[in-house]
Amino acid sequence: MLTRESATYVGRFAPSPTGPLHFGSLVAAVASYLQAKARAGQWLLRIEDIDPPREQPGATDAILRALEQYGFEWHGDVIYQSRSQETHEVAIQSLLERSLAYPCGCSRRDLADAPRGSLGTIYPGTCRDGCDAEETAIRLRTTHTSVSFVDGLQGLQSQELERESGDFIIRRRDGLIAYHLAVVVDDAIEGITEIVRGIDLMDSTPRQIWLQQLLGYPTPNYIHIPVVTHPNGDKLSKLTGAAGIPELGTARVLVAALIALQQEPPEELRRAGQSAVWQWAIENWCLDAMQGQTAVSTDSEALAGLGDGLW
Ligand code: GLU
Repeated sequence: MLTRESATYVGRFAPSPTGPLHFGSLVAAVASYLQAKARAGQWLLRIEDIDPPREQPGATDAILRALEQYGFEWHGDVIYQSRSQETHEVAIQSLLERSLAYPCGCSRRDLADAPRGSLGTIYPGTCRDGCDAEETAIRLRTTHTSVSFVDGLQGLQSQELERESGDFIIRRRDGLIAYHLAVVVDDAIEGITEIVRGIDLMDSTPRQIWLQQLLGYPTPNYIHIPVVTHPNGDKLSKLTGAAGIPELGTARVLVAALIALQQEPPEELRRAGQSAVWQWAIENWCLDAMQGQTAVSTDSEALAGLGDGLW
């Protein structure tokens, strides 16, 4: 058994408790799990519970129960992101002290006329040289140099942050720590070596790498897997009415997740039990089958018959 210290591969699944686990998030969990297990690495489970207004009561329990029922085995205890808030603050202070971050008093209304790009509002730099507002967010300075990385499935990705996002928020005006800061600090504390997650988060990665660079953290490998969509192209999510994954028939649902991940489970695996499905999946895991693929539709021929009631 590998100990945390000797593990060379450390992966993770990091759901936010904003609703039950739906098929799209199960697929992301399965991909990160198989990638870790196929390398005899560790797979950590972190509940990203630092945004109470977005949380749904009972969602954490529902997610943990579903992961257990589906046979996931995580290394050590469940990690709650809310418990590392002091470390998040230390990181923010270090950025402020080095003038890499600054207080910003701009409200949404102040930014109504700011330019918009594919990442949202591009901050025009209003408070870069100081601001006297009482209630402030904290923004991280960006520059015109490109931040690039080579995604394990999607190839070279690059963003010029100053032009494409502008200085971005790392602590909100209401005092809550922003996702980018929290995720980067926690991945570093936990020694994550590779991040496997949905492609909808790929746009965030350059901002996270920028933070890693300023905080002196190593950059893990990134692999962004295709998103599962409804036939009309919308991502499966709580917002588009995707249901929580069922408690019964977990083996069949896992087979559907493998198909969404472009694995080719043999026909008879559809009638096998959960542990046989996991064993096959770990032994036959082929990440490259998804090379360059960005979306999988639930009406694909291979998935259609397996998804009754799932989406
Ligand atoms: N907590 C994020 C979510 O549920 C995922 C964070 C990540 O994987 O980096 O969408």
